[in-house]
Amino acid sequence: MPLAGLACLGLLRSVARSPRFHGNRSSGGRSLGGLAHRPGLPALFPGSSSTILRFQHFSSENKTAENPVSPMLKHLIMKIKSTGPITVAEYMREVLTNPVKGYYMHHDMLGEKGDFVTSPEISQIFGELIGIWFVSEWIASGKPKRFQLVELGPGRGSLTSDILRVFKQLNSLLSKCEISIHLMEVSPKLSEIQASVLTEENTKLQESSTAYMQGITKTGLPIFWYRNLNDVPGGNSFYLAHEFLDALPIHKFQKTEKGWHELLVDIDPGAPDKLRFVLAPSITPATKAFIHDEESRNHVEVCPDAGIIIQKLAQNIEENGGAALIVDYGHDGTKTDTFRGFRGHKLHDVLISPGTADLTADVDFSYLQRIAQGRVATLGPIKQQDFLRNMGIDIRLQVLLQNANDVHTRNQLLRSYEMLMDLDKMGGCFKFFAMLPHCRLRPSDQVMKPEHSSVSAAVAGFGELTLK
Ligand code: SAH
Repeated sequence: MPLAGLACLGLLRSVARSPRFHGNRSSGGRSLGGLAHRPGLPALFPGSSSTILRFQHFSSENKTAENPVSPMLKHLIMKIKSTGPITVAEYMREVLTNPVKGYYMHHDMLGEKGDFVTSPEISQIFGELIGIWFVSEWIASGKPKRFQLVELGPGRGSLTSDILRVFKQLNSLLSKCEISIHLMEVSPKLSEIQASVLTEENTKLQESSTAYMQGITKTGLPIFWYRNLNDVPGGNSFYLAHEFLDALPIHKFQKTEKGWHELLVDIDPGAPDKLRFVLAPSITPATKAFIHDEESRNHVEVCPDAGIIIQKLAQNIEENGGAALIVDYGHDGTKTDTFRGFRGHKLHDVLISPGTADLTADVDFSYLQRIAQGRVATLGPIKQQDFLRNMGIDIRLQVLLQNANDVHTRNQLLRSYEMLMDLDKMGGCFKFFAMLPHCRLRPSDQVMKPEHSSVSAAVAGFGELTLK
């Protein structure tokens, strides 16, 4: 068996043998013989295929039709009236992260009562396997004396919480390592939830010159919150971004008979309370920067913010070591119009009632790869199903099923597994993409292409876990 596989299997066994997990989510997670089931799953996914999932791509039909004038809509209308039509990127940034009225800022959109559900909210096993991946990379990089775990867009904090529990269970390995936790989160509401999930109640959280909040995790590690990646300290870092890059602002471009034009958002002249897409009359700076002569699609979406983040992560990994795991729905530079909205688990028109619905677009992994290459080696993107299987999800499931002492628990375990693994559910749509220092991979691995070509056996998760 490849070394990475062996190391991972050992870690997996240590986690499986260790005492059962205790459901500790303030949101109501509870222990299921080692796998805390996230609230909301039974109602959301009672085995029917009718539930709409956020990563799936839809036609423009079937969308919500009402158009109440939301405070965000009023704000955007004022803005467009005073400065003219805005780019889709500016629209998305305002709608999602405007400090006063932005969608992410003041409510919890995750779970059954929210607008969408994510893998870490479905099953604790997801975070466990990612935790094992980071520990296996830490071992492979020579067990450095200190590292920081940096999560971008941590939502409810569930993923970090699951990883921290794995770190605790592998304490015999990690006890001499100085570990700190760093969260990049723009939302005051979500950072409050993260603090309640990750730190002890009644502990006072402080502010520092760079972090807007800092404290100690329930497992005894220093934890910091930042609004901006520039504030996160450098150093040996393990980065994680799960369903984060898809929330960053995109520019949209349309090919016409007269060449490429950027799409802008304007007020509908026929209905002053409505917005509509228009084509920029002349070439915009973004069109010049992002549309290449060899582009064969007729519609293109580009997310420069994702590019900037990947560049920073790659630079820090190159200089200080570590790794990054990016998990999201996406494509390899082939898709066209993927911009969509979600509200209450239903598709929502992106221009209607802005600020009340999630906006998202598929991640272009080929763009991330181009930005990262040179500085770091990249692996993937590979399907979530492959990554979790390579990390030993089937072995973990068997242990949990053996420990489960009632039919209900077993059914829940199987249903969560199905959601994470089925190719027509999260298993096929979500992709895992990693960045590692060049020295981590043999030269032949560094040119590995996604999906079809042989995957690297040297790095856990990206090579098959073969058992003898
Ligand atoms: N990773 C979590 C949550 C995904 S939702 C999960 O998988 O469950 C997207 C997350 O990114 C939220 O926490 C949101 O508040 C955060 N976010 C969105 N845009 C951001 C930005 N520009 N800077 C920092 N955080 C952002």
